[in-house]
Amino acid sequence: AARRFDVAIIGGGIIGLSVGRSLLKRGLSVGVFERGVVGSGATRAASGMLAATAEVEPGEDDLLPLTLASQDLWHGFAKELEAETGLSVDYRAEGTMVVALSRDEVDRLRFRHQLQTRLGLKTDWLPGSAAREREPGLRPNVAGAILCEQDHQVDARLVAAALKAAFEAAGGALFENTAVISLERSGGRVTGLLTEAERVEAGTFVLAAGAWSPQLVPDLQIPVRPLRGQSMALRMDPRMPALTHVVWTEQIHMAPKGDGRLVIGATVEERGFDQRNTAGGVFALLEAARQALPSMEDLAIDEIWAGFRPTSLDDAPIFGEVGIDGLVVATGHHRNGILLAPVSARAISDLIAEGQMSGPEAAFTLQRFSRNTSRL
Ligand code: FAD
Repeated sequence: AARRFDVAIIGGGIIGLSVGRSLLKRGLSVGVFERGVVGSGATRAASGMLAATAEVEPGEDDLLPLTLASQDLWHGFAKELEAETGLSVDYRAEGTMVVALSRDEVDRLRFRHQLQTRLGLKTDWLPGSAAREREPGLRPNVAGAILCEQDHQVDARLVAAALKAAFEAAGGALFENTAVISLERSGGRVTGLLTEAERVEAGTFVLAAGAWSPQLVPDLQIPVRPLRGQSMALRMDPRMPALTHVVWTEQIHMAPKGDGRLVIGATVEERGFDQRNTAGGVFALLEAARQALPSMEDLAIDEIWAGFRPTSLDDAPIFGEVGIDGLVVATGHHRNGILLAPVSARAISDLIAEGQMSGPEAAFTLQRFSRNTSRL
């Protein structure tokens, strides 16, 4: 007989694993199927910023209730994960500084600060001198900064490792190096998934395959595409002023990690699934980092990589049913999948265990796109 779970999840990134862990807590049996190893997709490329506030852009505040809800959940989520596994996720609460490196940039940054204030977000304006006091490595003529104290960070790779341990400790069945080749459908319903080795049945299938999600249900045309991000890490030197906060400039962000790495990210490029690092991409990161932090010139390069954000038409995630019985999606997290993991887990486990989503996540269904088209 075929192997059977209450829920089978396709994709072992931060989203699939977070959803899986929540479903186990509700008493369901869960299998996660991951083509590579856990976290090997976008999750391992992420800088780990939990930046609901710093990233608010004019006209992009629809997502704010969702990002704020997830940011609120994160501290408890990290504490629980660490307690369940004994593993650290390197949760750091120093906050995020968005800096202006010239007069022009100060005007734009003040505008951003006004927008944040209007939206009720708690941020502080720092004159250049105060920014340099907090981050002595910043270039001397840094002209001003916004301090977003609520925007914390984690190490996304450590989160993936902890989620894997928590999932398995709670009795979840994890299948790594196991690609799902196809979903079997019969009578408008998903009835099984096929791997190279076997057929697996489940009450519900959750598609959480990141930028690859549309491939298993091509007829649905899920509006998600890969958006390449190139990033790198430098090794901080204890003898030099490095960084304590996450620092954003207009071009890049720099996130100092507990293991001594300084992550510099990220490009935003429409290149399909081309996973190369390019000279231009790496040059842009390095040049922008040197502008902000001159002492980085002497730091060793630790790693260079690229990943694919799963980006939807409106840059917001897609949760829930998609018109095929037995299938639920959790994808489209774009540049926010680490931040949005706890709220995504709540959304999908509420939907499967209780039949509906509540909270801000209920607005982020696939149906919002067809509503939009019919209005055009
Ligand atoms: P993924 O991590 O891509 O996981 C999907 C998994 O599905 C993969 O492991 C893949 O191997 C697997 N898979 C695919 N097809 C199949 C199949 N057929 N069968 C089995 N398995 C399959 N977000 C933040 O919140 N903060 C940040 O600071 C941040 N920085 C980022 C920096 C970069 C450079 C990039 C690229 C992204 C960043 N993000 C950030 C976004 C974040 O990484 C993603 O939104 C998030 O990782 C998406 O998680 P996921 O689980 O949906 O996708």
